[in-house]
Amino acid sequence: MPRTDTHQLLRRLPGVDHLMDKAHEDERFSAVPRQLIIRSIRTVLDHLRSRILDGQNPDFDDTTLLSEMARQCRQTLAPRLVPLINATGVVLHTNLGRSLLCEKALSNIQTIAGSYSNLELNLSTGKRGLRYSIVESLICELTGAQAAMAVNNNAGAVLLALNTLAQGTDVVVSRGELVEIGGSFRVPDVMTKSGCRLKEVGTTNRTHLKDYAGAITESTGMLLKVHASNYRIQGFTASVGLTDLVTLGGTHGIPVMEDLGSGTLVDFSAFGFPTEPPVSRSVAAGVDIVTFSGDKLLGGPQAGIIVGRKQAVDQIKANPLTRALRIDKLTLAALEATLQVYRDEATAIRDIPTLRMLTLTYEDTCQKADTLYKHVKKACGSGDVIECADMESRPGGGSFPDLKLPTRCVTLIPADMSVATLERRMRLSTPGVIARIENNRYIMDPRTIQPGQEPLISSTLETILKTS
Ligand SMILES: *Cc1c(COP(=O)(O)O)cnc(C)c1O
Repeated sequence: MPRTDTHQLLRRLPGVDHLMDKAHEDERFSAVPRQLIIRSIRTVLDHLRSRILDGQNPDFDDTTLLSEMARQCRQTLAPRLVPLINATGVVLHTNLGRSLLCEKALSNIQTIAGSYSNLELNLSTGKRGLRYSIVESLICELTGAQAAMAVNNNAGAVLLALNTLAQGTDVVVSRGELVEIGGSFRVPDVMTKSGCRLKEVGTTNRTHLKDYAGAITESTGMLLKVHASNYRIQGFTASVGLTDLVTLGGTHGIPVMEDLGSGTLVDFSAFGFPTEPPVSRSVAAGVDIVTFSGDKLLGGPQAGIIVGRKQAVDQIKANPLTRALRIDKLTLAALEATLQVYRDEATAIRDIPTLRMLTLTYEDTCQKADTLYKHVKKACGSGDVIECADMESRPGGGSFPDLKLPTRCVTLIPADMSVATLERRMRLSTPGVIARIENNRYIMDPRTIQPGQEPLISSTLETILKTS
């Protein structure tokens, strides 16, 4: 294109002020901060300018420019962290935020967050208090421990406990327990970061008490047990029980620590689940320090809970690293409220979403599937194939690795689009629906769909299926 034409085209571009005036008259911009509108004007004009300089002759007028500006502003203002519907059936879904909080925890966050509180004030003395004391007696009551504290997360709890009790020493661990828990948490790496030396004993499948005993030297500072929370070694296996390990540690005056991972306060064996030992069992076995997560099987907020002997917990509280890993007040508010619910086990199972979803029976899921089926049916056309099918849900989040929960799902094969397209569009809707594809069917597991979400799913489905 000749230079003069380029110049003419560039001169046709509207000015920033002109577009700003237009935006002021336009309802779509009424809640948009001025700076954002200006940024969108600049972006739109820059884009046009570079197309013109590229030799193109772009078509534009105020209407198209304002629409593009409005789209950009909407996108910029949209929140990035958004609620989703979990139709995967995976209760502790790490990517979807693990545990949902119970009502009491939610309302306590609301109460504490908007108010001053006694976070670090001892109300009886009027002097400075410790945030750790807020949940300490409650955790002790529920686990039988002498002392307790809560930090940011369980990985932090493990790091802190190792660093406090065993820095510069050998920590003896079974080879079968050198686990990786998704992402970047690997027991050997955490140990190195905490300043301990890893002393592996036994083999992947079998470790005996004599292996631990044989590894103990002057430099040994701790015996560590890591609960195999996200996998199982099956077949020809042997591991050393906590009681034996505690006796061995006692003989040599070496502390014993257990990283339980999930850590539960209820006994799931009543529900026929394979043994996930309750925290109280480890405490009763005499372990010096037990660590576990707040948002796995406990069903509370992200937190790391440390329980054990008073002397060991007091040492951890005094570690300067504790400050870097401390629990925040919102989490503390949620944790205290959640723990209070545990004072009555039946109430905990009814009111704590994680426990409620895990303990749903197959019959419960059939009822929920029935409701979901009716809603989905309404959204579908005559060519779409909807069925109910018996399947299995997984607890997830590195808990109960062998456990598959029988569940009744609703499956869908859309007539006018691929299952992959349906999955993507459901995921990108508002609210997004996360489900899985199996054997080229779109599968919704009602176990993790919350009460009242069925109409949302059906209206989203209807929109997507209609505009295929
Ligand atoms: C999940 C897990 C952790 C990490 O806990 P977070 O709360 O995610 O930090 C540590 N150890 C074990 C055995 C786990 O299962």
